[in-house]
Amino acid sequence: MSARRFPFRTVFEPFIIKSVEPIRMTTRPEREKIMKDARYNLFRVKSQDVLIDLLTDSGTGAMSSEQWAAIMRGDEAYAGSRSFQRFEAAVKEVFGFEHVIPTHQGRAAERILFSVVCKKGDVVPNNTHFDTTRANIEYQGAIAEDLIIPEGLDPQSLYPFKGNMDVERLEALIKRVGAARIPLCMLTITNNSGGGQPVSMENIKAVKTVLEPHGIPLYFDAARFAENAYFIKLREPGYQDRSVKSIVREMMSYADGCTMSAKKDGLVNIGGFLCTNEDRLARQEKDLLILTEGFPTYGGLAGRDLEAIAVGLREILNEDYLKYRIAEARYLGEHLVEIGYPIVQPPGGHAIYIDAKALLPHLRPLQYPGQSLSIELYLEGGIRTVEIGSVMFGKIDPDTGKETPARMELVRLALPRRVHTQSHIDYVLEVARDVYGRKEQLGGYRIVKQPAFLRHFSAEFEPL
Ligand SMILES: *Cc1c(COP(=O)(O)O)cnc(C)c1O
Repeated sequence: MSARRFPFRTVFEPFIIKSVEPIRMTTRPEREKIMKDARYNLFRVKSQDVLIDLLTDSGTGAMSSEQWAAIMRGDEAYAGSRSFQRFEAAVKEVFGFEHVIPTHQGRAAERILFSVVCKKGDVVPNNTHFDTTRANIEYQGAIAEDLIIPEGLDPQSLYPFKGNMDVERLEALIKRVGAARIPLCMLTITNNSGGGQPVSMENIKAVKTVLEPHGIPLYFDAARFAENAYFIKLREPGYQDRSVKSIVREMMSYADGCTMSAKKDGLVNIGGFLCTNEDRLARQEKDLLILTEGFPTYGGLAGRDLEAIAVGLREILNEDYLKYRIAEARYLGEHLVEIGYPIVQPPGGHAIYIDAKALLPHLRPLQYPGQSLSIELYLEGGIRTVEIGSVMFGKIDPDTGKETPARMELVRLALPRRVHTQSHIDYVLEVARDVYGRKEQLGGYRIVKQPAFLRHFSAEFEPL
């Protein structure tokens, strides 16, 4: 990205464009009608009505020519396909675990893992549980405990590893509930819910050291494992001369297994897997897999999907790619700060989070400042972002109907992998600058219709 910001030349996209998808241009009056028809909920907007879609980085990446070529090699045999063998070999090469179980996406791996290891009353610690991870643990009647370090909760802290687990709180938790009630401990790399912040190797080792005497296994929620490894290379003393591949292997060497959403650092549009080093566990997990996902050599995926993951897992370790990836997020983040936007610092790997509460102090949390900003970014420039605040996490008391706002009011700009050019990002910044110029005029919203749970996907709004 910009040469000004870096001591080197422009970090440009390390690929050329081989296949394109046209963007259908829209005008502000058209978008005003679209937004109104969608009841001011961006999840209800059709993708052809979006110019730059920053809703999520999950499954939205572009595949490489090698991945498309691999797709043609897909072996669709029901059992023991060559595609599974290539997939398994790639996962073992990159991650190093004994058993590899394919699933249709990350949450399926979570459901199978927690169905096997959790019982009612158990406690599963994590730096910060991703929402589907928490939901799958709670579905088993277990408790999902977040043990992030204090810096991880301070949006302005520039601490380099804000995804780290608070090791003292982990020790205290083990002492309080007893190791028998902790079937495993997780580390989410990078910490998605905490702003895509990395976990250091030192912290991974410290967590392992605490767990080991108690026999508690360590698992990674590995969705963004390569971005995490690259942050270690950039920021942790002693890792500058190591390859990302060897850093990943070292990270994984401290763990007993992982869950993986290949829709992130697998560089594919669908897929996931579950890994373990334990034979008995693997057998139980495969039995459950057959019940809902499919035979253990395809797990709900087509042979061609397994091929694309096998190639994606090797491509993600390319350090020119990772350098560009991190530079893209940093470019967007630093320029938003230059305009005046308060963001969660420092820029993470996959997204930038704007603090809408600080940006729009004239709106109360229950007037949904995050919703207001995300709607204005769409109206002004056709940019789709996502509110991560009281619309998503506000809690309504079932008896009184009173609503408690979320802790933070954020708007996330997630970056799909290998999809946008620098001029797309520059356009986003121009729109953001215009919106910033009239931020005092942005109004609040109220919810006029909502479902009982996960309301952000379908709720209907009205401007105040
Ligand atoms: C996306 C994600 C998941 C869930 O994966 P899906 O493929 O969406 O089911 C789990 N954990 C983290 C950290 C994620 O980002």
